[in-house]
Amino acid sequence: MINVSKLKKGVVIDHIEANKGYKIFNQLKLDQSEDVVVLMRNVPSQKMGKKDLIKIENDINVDLTVLGLIDPNVTVNIVENGERIKKIKLSLPEKVMGILDCKNPRCISKHENVGDIGFILVDKEKKLYRCEYCDARTSL
Ligand SMILES: [Zn+2]
Repeated sequence: MINVSKLKKGVVIDHIEANKGYKIFNQLKLDQSEDVVVLMRNVPSQKMGKKDLIKIENDINVDLTVLGLIDPNVTVNIVENGERIKKIKLSLPEKVMGILDCKNPRCISKHENVGDIGFILVDKEKKLYRCEYCDARTSL
């Protein structure tokens, strides 16, 4: 296995379903980050067979809403002084703001500047969200 130097301070996003790491990487805009970021793919895992892993060196504010939306099964570890100080379990958010886009071309949000659109979870299984303006269903 590739040896990646131990994180002193930062965030480890663990138990990412294999091949979803890159998507999360992009959603968190880590390609624009100035911090040390490591994306590991296909890491052997007892529980999952293979998994992806992301390490970010810094105390960035990870947008947990985005993470919960892409993959609610990931674990977020906060590391300080080389020790894990906090483990965060994610869940599918009941409401998301400003991440999803309404797919209805006639939605008012497409024609007027309404700011961030809120989406309310309507189907956990299918990860379907309802636009607060027009009720159109959408998913990530
Ligand atoms: Zn809409």
